Order: sequence, then C-alpha cells, then structure tokens
Amino acid sequence: MSFQLVCIECDSIGVVIDHGELAPPSAIVRCSHCSAARGTLGELRSLALSERRDLFDVGLDINGTGAAL
Ligand SMILES: [Zn+2]
Repeated sequence: MSFQLVCIECDSIGVVIDHGELAPPSAIVRCSHCSAARGTLGELRSLALSERRDLFDVGLDINGTGAAL
C-alpha cells in the first residue's frame, strides 16, 4: 500500500496522525475530512522528503501536536 496523497473518498489532501511525533512509522495516517486510512506515517515521511513535498505545505494538519515530519 502506498500513501494516498489525495483521499480517494473525498478528494481532501488534509491528514491527521494520531499521537503526532510520538507515533511510530507504522502508525496509520487518516484523512482529516472523512477519516479514511491514507497510508502509514512512514510512507508519509518518505513522500514529504521527496521532491513532491511542496504538495504537503498546503493541507497538512497534524492534530494540533506540531509533529515534525
Ligand atoms: Zn477523505
């Protein structure tokens, strides 16, 4: 399973990560709009470090914990 940058259920790009920066790489990242599973935190970090990281500056919302990706 690869990380879904855009939600297949609602087309939102916002995500929520339970436990924020304390979450393990295997933690499930959920859609901030409909809570559908979008992938794992490890997959999100890999994407954020890639050349596509600019896409994340728009809609990333990490549940108020200020987690660093
Ligand atoms: Zn969604």
